[in-house]
Amino acid sequence: MDFLSLTDIQKNLKEKKITPKELFDFYLNKITKQNKNLNAFISLNDKAFESKKKGLLSGIPLGVKDLFCTQDIRTTAGSKALENYIPPYTATAVKKLEDEGAIIIGKCNNDEFAMGSTGKNSYFGTVKNPWNLKHCAGGSSSGSASAVAGGLCPASLGTDTGGSVRLPAHYCNLVGLKPTYGRVSRYGMIAYASSLDQAGIFTHTVEDSALLLDIISGFDPWDSTSVKKEPPYFQKKLNPNIKNKKILFFDLENLTDQIQPEVLKAFQNCLKILKEKGCQLVEKKWPFLQYGLSAYYLISTSEASSNLSRYDGIRYGYKSPKEPKDIQDFYALNRTESFGKEVRQRIFMGTFCLSAGYYEEYFHKACQVRNLIKQAFDDLFSTYEIIVSPVASSTAPLLNLEEKPLQTYLNDQFTVFSNLIGAPALSLPFSFSKENLPIGIQLMGPPFLEQNILDVAFS
Ligand code: GLN
Repeated sequence: MDFLSLTDIQKNLKEKKITPKELFDFYLNKITKQNKNLNAFISLNDKAFESKKKGLLSGIPLGVKDLFCTQDIRTTAGSKALENYIPPYTATAVKKLEDEGAIIIGKCNNDEFAMGSTGKNSYFGTVKNPWNLKHCAGGSSSGSASAVAGGLCPASLGTDTGGSVRLPAHYCNLVGLKPTYGRVSRYGMIAYASSLDQAGIFTHTVEDSALLLDIISGFDPWDSTSVKKEPPYFQKKLNPNIKNKKILFFDLENLTDQIQPEVLKAFQNCLKILKEKGCQLVEKKWPFLQYGLSAYYLISTSEASSNLSRYDGIRYGYKSPKEPKDIQDFYALNRTESFGKEVRQRIFMGTFCLSAGYYEEYFHKACQVRNLIKQAFDDLFSTYEIIVSPVASSTAPLLNLEEKPLQTYLNDQFTVFSNLIGAPALSLPFSFSKENLPIGIQLMGPPFLEQNILDVAFS
């Protein structure tokens, strides 16, 4: 598929080969033609072209997941609960793009409240994969990935709580970056699981990913977990010489019947290439592999049950037209009618995990396991600069595949680790299956060393 990278566009604009208006119309035209097939955008921003700011992204249209608040532009989180919500402010990450002159052309579809791996859980309908419309685009940042892969915008923002940027990037042949927890402000990003959520970036190239990371990262007084760090200049520092880099990969022997052979083959080819580039490769057992998903789903659903309590029809959200019998019934009607099945399921699970009597057994245990995982990875990162693995076990599944929730959750088994430990990770387009579906590779690095990952991906 043909595409334009941000750096191509910057060049064309600078050399006046194209005007910002022509560029905007080009993408708007693509959206008008293709969005009915892909369902990548929920809302378009028709006032967008009025942006006046000048900067690194002057005149460049970008997509933003509908989980980021945008002042005066409807922000739904993919839910009926927020179908008509118009935020009074803009999320910091989005504001930083706008301050560099970017034009937010529309809000991208996503699994409701970022819960899902398929793009099938949105109140606004299923998102499709531009590589094959019968296959899913991944989730939860499904629209952000589908829009960039389908050429409806040159780059986009998503969010990643357990893999929601990397999984769709892998399914759609994009570079998908989840930065270190604290690197990018979460202010204005509708919360799913606050200790795991992080903004992420979809681009066609590694250089573009570094450019957007430079722009959106930085301390924000409105997010107490954002970290004060010097501006990193990732793009300028990109270095393709990765000779002697110490790279760790995990033994996947026990998983061979779970992993699609073509995905395994791509992974082995990637190891071969890294060796040829002069990297030092070491193999180890994946620490706590069987516990990562359990810890992730217990913690994320617990935090979600608390975060989503604000959608009660009074402070926020949908209010049922039905006459309630009493106050309990009022809440039950509003919440039952507005949340989809997956969201309700997760609120039940999280409420259970946090309830008196079960807290110690589930939520607290999961936090202890999370600490053990963190210690194990800190230990590995004291020796190795990068950990390489598959992003997921398979290429993009068929949309009509009926899976049990537990099967779907297995898609996240390799991605949740970097969220649990707050480390950066990237999904890099690598090859294609016989069916012409994309296959990516996951690169994970120590917290705040995104440069390591970007350099290996760039090489
Ligand atoms: N698929 C995972 C989940 O459903 C991850 C979601 C995400 O990263 N937002 O929770």
